[in-house]
Amino acid sequence: MTYVFNPAKPVSLPVTGTDQRFPVRRIYCVGKNYAKHVIEMGGDIERSDPVFFTKAAQTIVESHSEIPYPPNTENLHYEVELVVAMGLDGIFGYAAGIDMTRRDLQADAKKKGGPWDRAKNFDHSAPCSAITPVANVELQGAKITLRKNGTVMQSSKLDKMIWSVGEIIERLAVDMDLQAGDLIFTGTPEGVGPAAAGDELIGEIDGLETIRVRYI
Ligand code: MN
Repeated sequence: MTYVFNPAKPVSLPVTGTDQRFPVRRIYCVGKNYAKHVIEMGGDIERSDPVFFTKAAQTIVESHSEIPYPPNTENLHYEVELVVAMGLDGIFGYAAGIDMTRRDLQADAKKKGGPWDRAKNFDHSAPCSAITPVANVELQGAKITLRKNGTVMQSSKLDKMIWSVGEIIERLAVDMDLQAGDLIFTGTPEGVGPAAAGDELIGEIDGLETIRVRYI
């Protein structure tokens, strides 16, 4: 059997401590998972069902990449997030990711009741660090921060998440057949804001690899 053209290479991420790579399948994202971020977005902090959306695997960008500023936006926002990487038997590991968002297109979609794809699921919209295998991770009390050009813009703790990692997986599994290779971006704390061409973004979570990208 041959293809009519060569299929795209599988998307993958490095895994710390090994030369083997993690093949990315689907990317799920959780919205509204830190109360202070819900408030800054003008939302209602009543605990209600988590909001889920998706990005294509092809939106992944590895650390130390240069990213072209995306088209059709004048308000590209960073959202630093804990990323859960699913393996063959539960959680494989964790990473730090940035859920890049065309905030102006998202506001327009919210107003019109339309889908978020153009706001969230665009090229290079999912920078993600190397994955640390779960056996080497202790997230208790871990801080999560995003720095833009060296200045701390987002700073919180993972225990501020409204929906825990376990609860997120439980809820997703009701609707979806979660499989090895799936990534889950678990929501961002307060302090989201714009990135411009020339800006360097660094997302850090205690105990995990760092995600560092620059817009050009
Ligand atoms: Mn997000």
